Amino acid sequence: MAITVQKFGGTSVADAEKIRRCASRAIEVFKKGSQVVVVASARGKQTDELIADAMELNPDPPKREMDMLLSTGEQQTVSLMAMAMDAMGHKAISFTGSQIRMITDGAHGRARIQSIDADVIHRKLDTGHIVIVAGFQGIDAEEDITTLGRGGSDTSAVALAAALKADVCEIYTDVAGIYTTDPRKFPSAVKMGHISYDEMLELASLGAGVMHGRAVEFGKKYDVPIHVRSSMTDEAGTLITHEVSQMEGILVSGATIQKNLAKIGLIAVDNKPGNAAKIFAHLAGAQVIVNDIIQTEISSEKANISFTVGSADLADAKKAIEEIVRQVQCQDVFVRDDIAEVSVVGVGMRSHCGVADRMFKALAVAEVNIDSITTSEIRISCIVDLDDAEKALVAVCEAFELDKPADERTSPG
Ligand code: ADP
Ligand code: ASP
Ligand code: MG
Repeated sequence: MAITVQKFGGTSVADAEKIRRCASRAIEVFKKGSQVVVVASARGKQTDELIADAMELNPDPPKREMDMLLSTGEQQTVSLMAMAMDAMGHKAISFTGSQIRMITDGAHGRARIQSIDADVIHRKLDTGHIVIVAGFQGIDAEEDITTLGRGGSDTSAVALAAALKADVCEIYTDVAGIYTTDPRKFPSAVKMGHISYDEMLELASLGAGVMHGRAVEFGKKYDVPIHVRSSMTDEAGTLITHEVSQMEGILVSGATIQKNLAKIGLIAVDNKPGNAAKIFAHLAGAQVIVNDIIQTEISSEKANISFTVGSADLADAKKAIEEIVRQVQCQDVFVRDDIAEVSVVGVGMRSHCGVADRMFKALAVAEVNIDSITTSEIRISCIVDLDDAEKALVAVCEAFELDKPADERTSPG
C-alpha cells in the first residue's frame, strides 16, 4: 500500500482552524487509498517564545534542558492534531520522537538522526490509523531528549519517509514551493517546478530557510521525492529530485543572501605542514561548524587563513582561536560580524561559462564591494558588507533574470 508522509510547518498549524485544515488534507489522502504519516512542527512562533522564556531565566541555558523545553512545542501540536482527526471521525494517534525510537547522537540543539523504529508506526498504519509524529526531536543513547536544529521538522519528515519507504514526502509550508530566491526578499521571484537535491542542498546551506539542509541530504541518500507546497492551496509546488538533463540548461536556478555570519581571519600564520590541521581540529573540538575557508600564501614562510562561521558559533570560534594562535605563530587575528553572503546556485554552471563574470559585474554596477569569493562546482558566493545585503541580492537576481521562468530567460536558460 502507498505511504505518504505529510509535514506541516509552524504557520500551517498556527491555530485551531489551520490544524483542522491540515487534518482534512491528511484524511483526504487516506481516503484516496494511501497510508498517511503526518509530521508536525510547533504552532506559530512557539519555538521562539519558548527560547525567550528560557533566556529570561538563564542567558546560557544547559543544552539538555533547552531540548526538554523546545520539544514540548511539537508535542502539543501532534496531540491537538490527533484530537482534530478524532473529532472528524478518523482514527489517529500521536507519538513523540522518543515513542518511535527516533535515535539521535547526543549533540543537543543540532542532533543527527541515527535510526528510527518504523515497526511501531507500521503497526498503527496497518490498523487504519493516521500516525502523527512530533517533528524536530529524538532521543540519544542516554534517553535524553534531543532536537535537530531550527527547521529540523523537515528532517524528521524526510527521515521517516525514508525509513517507511514512503512514496513521497510532502512539505506543507507558507509559500507555494521553492522560489528562485526568498519571495519575501525579492517579491518577483518565481516558483520552480523542479530542483535537484544538489542545488537545494547548496541553497539550504546558504540560507534558504525553506528546507532544512539535512532533510535534503536524507532525500538524496534514500531517494525520497520531496514535494514542497502550500498548505493553503491545492496547487502543485516544487519537486526536489535527482538531477535530470533539462536542469543543466538552466544557468542559475536560485540565489540566496545569508546574514548571521561572521568571518575570522588569522594573519601571517607560519606556513608549515600541520598548522591548518591544528587550527581546524581545535575548532572542530569546540563543536564549531566552519563554512568557507580561504588560505592564501603571502610569502614562502607565511599565509593568511580566514573562514566564516554562523553568528551563533562566533563566541566559541573566537575562544578556540585565542587558544590556538600562539601554537601556529599567528601575528594577528581579525573578526568581522558585519557581513552577509550573496550566492548563486545552478547545476548549469558545470557546463556553461560566464556566471562569475555576470555576477561580479552586477555587484559592481550596484556599487557593492566584494570582500571575498568562494565557489563550488555549482555555486558562487561573495561576502559583502551587511549594509549592502539587500541591494546585492536584488542586483544578482536581476542579472540572472530570476524574476522569469527559466525558459523565458535570455541565454542560456
Ligand atoms: P515552515 O514553518 O513551514 O517550516 P519556514 O519558515 O521554515 O516554514 O520556511 C518557509 C519560508 O522560507 C518562506 O516563508 C520564505 O520566506 C522562506 N524562503 C527562503 N528562501 C526561499 C526560497 N528560495 N523559496 C521559498 N521560500 C523561501
Ligand atoms: N519548531 C522548530 C523550529 O521552529 C522546528 C521546525 O519548525 O521545523 O525551528
Ligand atoms: Mg521550516
